[in-house]
Amino acid sequence: MALNVVMLGPPASGKGTQAVRLAKARGIPKISTGDILREAAQTGSELGLRAKALMDRGELLGDREMIGIVKERLAKPDASNGFILDGFPRTVPQAEALDRLLGGQPLVIVDLAVPDSELIRRMEGRRVCSKCAANAEPDARASDVCARCEGRMITRADDGDENVRRHRLEVYGRESWPLLDYYRSRATFRSVNGAQVPDRVAAELASKLDAMVPVGTERTKR
Ligand code: AMP
Repeated sequence: MALNVVMLGPPASGKGTQAVRLAKARGIPKISTGDILREAAQTGSELGLRAKALMDRGELLGDREMIGIVKERLAKPDASNGFILDGFPRTVPQAEALDRLLGGQPLVIVDLAVPDSELIRRMEGRRVCSKCAANAEPDARASDVCARCEGRMITRADDGDENVRRHRLEVYGRESWPLLDYYRSRATFRSVNGAQVPDRVAAELASKLDAMVPVGTERTKR
């Protein structure tokens, strides 16, 4: 049974890190819309340049464009056994589009909960690779060299400025709280304490997923 997961959580809640770990553990791709857009920005494509201007201001791209990007990515063969979505959906129309794309396949929704003060602290220290866009692991924050590809580690443009950091949290609150309302009542919604160290978050997440009865098989078990 495919494991389809949406990771929700504010910027710097650790959803990228947890999505990578979970994807590796379960052998399914982690699909990050932020990474897709940052890669596009590096190629200098028309989408990339437009995305960069919005990302640098902490604004969201339009729903229609994002839905198109995700639809194309989910159609690739490596996503047929499941996926971990990181950064999508961010709005209710995006969530509705994902439901339509899945056509009734089960979807697990994980919300990483972290207080704002901790998020700001994390954004200040966060660094990414200028070449492959990987996040620095917390224990390698001081290094200038990416552990994955040896590219140069830099502060993300949208993390560096205090006003942009605050604005991104505001945008998250405004756009994405309705998403929690959209998903919260589902049997497959799980909240995980994201304020713990990454190993503890991963363990809590894994045990919550393991304890979950796959929605698609629930009926056949009776
Ligand atoms: P992230 O790496 O997920 O924090 O995303 C970085 C930036 O990419 C966001 O601040 C938005 O500008 C843009 N972005 C990523 N995913 C989406 C999405 N699902 N909808 C709209 N904009 C997005």
